[in-house]
Amino acid sequence: MLRPQLPAAERLLPHLRKIDATRVYSNFGPLALEFGARLAHHFGLPETGVVVASSGTAALIGAILATAGRASPEKPLAVVPAFTFIATASAAEACGYRLRFVDVDREDFELDPKRLLAEHDLDGVGLVIPVGAFGQAVDQAAWKKFRDKTGIAVVVDGAACFEVVTSSPSHTLGEIPVALSFHATKSFGVGEGGCALTRDVNLAMRMARAINFGFFGSRDCQSANINGKLSEYHAAVGLAELDGWAEKSHALLSVAEGYRSALKGTSLLERFLAAPQVASCYALIRCETATDAQRLERALAGNGIGFRRWYGAGLHLHSYHAGLEREALPVTERLADSLVGLPTAPDLAASDILLVADTLNAAIGRERRA
Ligand SMILES: *Cc1c(COP(=O)(O)O)cnc(C)c1O
Repeated sequence: MLRPQLPAAERLLPHLRKIDATRVYSNFGPLALEFGARLAHHFGLPETGVVVASSGTAALIGAILATAGRASPEKPLAVVPAFTFIATASAAEACGYRLRFVDVDREDFELDPKRLLAEHDLDGVGLVIPVGAFGQAVDQAAWKKFRDKTGIAVVVDGAACFEVVTSSPSHTLGEIPVALSFHATKSFGVGEGGCALTRDVNLAMRMARAINFGFFGSRDCQSANINGKLSEYHAAVGLAELDGWAEKSHALLSVAEGYRSALKGTSLLERFLAAPQVASCYALIRCETATDAQRLERALAGNGIGFRRWYGAGLHLHSYHAGLEREALPVTERLADSLVGLPTAPDLAASDILLVADTLNAAIGRERRA
C-alpha cells in the first residue's frame, strides 16, 4: 500500500566512494557530519542543533535520556497518547517508564497540553511525549509552557514531521527536542535512520552523548545511554535523499493532488486527508462509521488495493500493553475504527489513483448503490 522509493544505486555511488576512501564506517564520520550539517541548514538550526541517529526510536530514546533521564521511583510514569505508532511507547519503556495512555484531540489527533494540565493528576509523571500525528505540527510554545509550569520533561515524537518542520520551523522547533524518523516509509527516508532537533545546544550535546554510550569528547561514560549512532552508509543515503528531495517532495505532493481531483465533486473529498495537512507519505480517509471502514477495506482488498490502519487499534490494545493505566479513550477508539490509510508512492500512477477513488465512491460514497 505504500511503495517507498529511496535514491537509486548510481546516486549513492559518489557518496559510497568517499567511505571507501576514508575507511570510516560509523562513529559520527565525515558523511554523518555532512548529513547533520546539511539538515541543520535545511531546518535553519545551528549546526550543533541536529543529532543524527540510527532510527527515529533511537533519537527519541536519546532525547528522553538527555531530558527526563531514566524513570525513578519518584517519577515512574510517562504520559503518551494512545493514538500513535508503537515506537512512542517503546522508547519510553526502554528508558524504564511505566506508560499511561491518554486520549487525543478530535480535531488534530494530538495531546492537548491545556487539557492535560487541567484534567490530569500529574503526580509521579516524569515524561510526556506529544506526537505529531501523521506528521502534523506539534506546537513548541504550548509544550514549553507546559514544561515550564509543571517541571515535567517533554520530548516530541515528530517521527513523520520532516515536512512540517521544514515549512514551519519557528512553530515546531525550540528548546523542547523533536525526534524525526527517516524510516523508508516516511516521506524523507534513508532506510533506517532519524535525528533529534533542538535549539538548545547544551541539550544537543547531551543527546549526542546519550546515543553514543555516554561518551562525549572522551571514552568515559558520563550518562545513561544506548548505541543509537547513524552509520556512514545510511548517512550516504541521507545525502543522496537530500540531493533529490525537491523532486521527490514534488512527486509526493502531486499524488495528494491527484487524489483530491479524483474525489472532487464527491462527498468523500471532505473526508480525505493528505499533504499538506499531513505528511506526504500518508493519504487517509475518515469513514463515517466503523462499519463503513470495514466495508471499504473489503472493497479495497477485492480490487487488489493495499490499505493500513497506520496506528492500529490504539496502543492500549496491543497484547504487551494490556492492563496498563489509561483514561477513557473515546477519540482514539473512534479514530482507530474509522481512519483508513490508502496507497501512496512518489510514482503512484494516475490510473491507480482513479481506481482507488472509484473503489472509495462505490464502497462508502453517498451516491453508492444500496
Ligand atoms: C515511524 C514512527 C516512529 C518510528 O521511527 P523509526 O525510525 O522506525 O524508529 C515513531 N513514532 C511515530 C509516530 C512514527 O510514525
